[in-house]
Amino acid sequence: MKSFEWVSPQSLVQVFDALQPEPGTDIDEAPRPIAGGQDLLTTMKDYITRPTRVVNLKGVRGLGQIEADGKGGLRIGALVTLAQLEENPSVRKAFPGLAEAAHSIATPQIRNLGTVGGNLCQRPRCWYFRLEEVVCLKKGGSECYAATGENKYHAIFGGGPSYIVHPSDLAPMLIALGATVTILGPHEQTKISLEKFFTLPSEGNIRRENILKNDQIIESIYVPASKFAAHSTYLKFKERDSLDFAMAAVAAALAMGADKRISEARLVLGGVAPIPWRVPKAEASLVGRALSDDVARTAAGIALEGAKPLAKNAYKIPLTQTLVRRALAKAGGVSL
Ligand SMILES: Cc1cc2nc3c(=O)[nH]c(=O)nc-3n(C[C@H](O)[C@H](O)[C@H](O)COP(=O)(O)OP(=O)(O)OC[C@H]3O[C@@H](n4cnc5c(N)ncnc54)[C@H](O)[C@@H]3O)c2cc1C
Repeated sequence: MKSFEWVSPQSLVQVFDALQPEPGTDIDEAPRPIAGGQDLLTTMKDYITRPTRVVNLKGVRGLGQIEADGKGGLRIGALVTLAQLEENPSVRKAFPGLAEAAHSIATPQIRNLGTVGGNLCQRPRCWYFRLEEVVCLKKGGSECYAATGENKYHAIFGGGPSYIVHPSDLAPMLIALGATVTILGPHEQTKISLEKFFTLPSEGNIRRENILKNDQIIESIYVPASKFAAHSTYLKFKERDSLDFAMAAVAAALAMGADKRISEARLVLGGVAPIPWRVPKAEASLVGRALSDDVARTAAGIALEGAKPLAKNAYKIPLTQTLVRRALAKAGGVSL
């Protein structure tokens, strides 16, 4: 690991000062915030990230709470751990899909340390990206080696020029629940829909996965009360049952009318695209329908329309379709 300076600011002003890069610093050498360290330290050990300074966020007050807003919504501080999220009674009761998504992540040990902000900002797990010796597109190189190489775990939607998949299990569920993110920087506070936070490789800076600038941090996530919340669920398929990232995942949230018809639906796919992949046409196909096997199958078919598998990952299409069907059944409380 390259040597670095460690600082533990007590205030946000000090955080933003410490995060300022020297002019001309390479993006992967700029100072980085650290929360639980479950991802940052690994990327530093593998020389993927080589920050000159590591800025510990844990000394800053006010980032580690889950607070009710009095209207049924929750503000989740960036330093809330995945274990706190998973175990929080308000989350479990009002947003069951969010508790399931948190529970699906890694192991109890990692969930005890890993935080919500760190989970959303973790770097991709692509094996080319994670290999120190490989200088791929995301590390300033000229090629995405997954495009024609070992691409079993890579994108079937939204790929090109890089084919990474987004690794966070929280992100698809939070997007399905209509969450917003509060970003703080030295001179600004921005609140945007979490859906707009993540960037495709073809859109933003290819060496980053979201809109954050070097000197900005996530302060909190807000999950509003919604008609979907109670009928939300997260289903994930992983290769190793003990702990693993999603080969495919589905966050589903349904608003159900008194007549048991779906009045609104949110479906967001994980593990299949460089960003959490919302499927609005599949959502629309559910509206006004009572959930049946036919309705769920049709939505699952539509959800995977337009998928462009690489040489070794076409299996993700039937896998994800099955997850969509099952997630809809679970969210709707029916057996198909
Ligand atoms: C073995 C293993 C298995 C895993 N399995 C899963 C899985 O199944 N599903 C899943 O979703 N994740 C999985 N993870 C990832 C894990 O959940 C994340 O590494 C963890 O949540 C990161 O949180 P952290 O607080 O430790 O972040 P850190 O490691 O401290 O930071 C991660 C990144 O986020 C940045 N950062 C941290 N906090 C903020 C903030 N508030 N604002 C802006 N930037 C910030 C850091 O600079 C760094 O770039 C796994 C990790 C491991 C090691």
